[in-house]
Amino acid sequence: MRVALLAGGTGGAKLADGFARVLAPGELSVIVNVADDTELHGLRVSPDIDSVLYTLAGLLDRTTGWGVAGDTRTALGMLERLGAERTWFQIGDADLATHVRRTQLIRDGASLTDATAAMAAALGITARILPASDDRLRTMLQTDAGELDFQDYFVGHRQEPEVRGVRLDGLDAARPTPAALAALAEADLVVIGPSNPVVSIGPILALSGMREAVAASGAMAVSPIVAGRALKGPADRMLASLGEEVTAVGVARRYAGIVRAFVLDAADAALASEVAALGLEPRVLPTVMRSDADRDALATALIQGGGILNR
Ligand code: GDP
Repeated sequence: MRVALLAGGTGGAKLADGFARVLAPGELSVIVNVADDTELHGLRVSPDIDSVLYTLAGLLDRTTGWGVAGDTRTALGMLERLGAERTWFQIGDADLATHVRRTQLIRDGASLTDATAAMAAALGITARILPASDDRLRTMLQTDAGELDFQDYFVGHRQEPEVRGVRLDGLDAARPTPAALAALAEADLVVIGPSNPVVSIGPILALSGMREAVAASGAMAVSPIVAGRALKGPADRMLASLGEEVTAVGVARRYAGIVRAFVLDAADAALASEVAALGLEPRVLPTVMRSDADRDALATALIQGGGILNR
């Protein structure tokens, strides 16, 4: 059973963890957003890839939801003293090693895909973690505080400015990787994870040919909006400020024509008919992943066909 999962760094990463446990080694491919990537202290930082790496390696700090559990900040303190910029991006010491290693591998000629594969293997991860693109792609947000690079908005401005528009810098030249497209073509099940539809899944689907590849796979998507709210992060506020409906139906509308089925949380079962009206098969499942058992149960239910058909 080969599964390809499209993911950002939080909801998608948790579902990846469930799939990785319930599938056989090598059966899971996680196609990860790269448009949040940035350069810090001369290093290549890929926040969503790192969150997936740390989650699948069992290293993630579960209290913050990012970074390495138990990490220290000695290097960051010294960088600050030395006058480094953008030290609001909280890089831990172990986390710094990840960015150093990635930067080194890329400087030695590896693609982001190859560098990620080498690091995943070194951490004992058997799932394939596939950057959606090896090319430069950067989410720029038009906000009330002006146009901000994604990390300036997300970390620097603590997601406070309202987002009025999204621009993907580099999109014209960026291509999906052959590995990501092959994973979609070969998968028995393609899932769009419960990740931010605007800034995590949006940039993956925007890559030339990606939308068509996902549509051809008969994919299903899991809603990141439950009972009208994001479980973490600014997805709900972003949908609102972009003029979209802040419900699972609003997310389903974005994915209409791309996925075959749409998974609503059990709390939103009453919205199933609205999802069906968009031409998507509604499925209702418990999608809130608080524990490992929740992650495994959701992954298992998706593999088994996506839960109760509720029309
Ligand atoms: P980011 O890259 O860190 O922003 O993370 P993602 O884009 O992968 O995930 C953010 C989205 O995941 C938010 O919209 C959350 O509501 C959603 N999310 C987080 N945890 C869960 C969960 O357990 N279940 C569901 N259904 N959605 C979740």
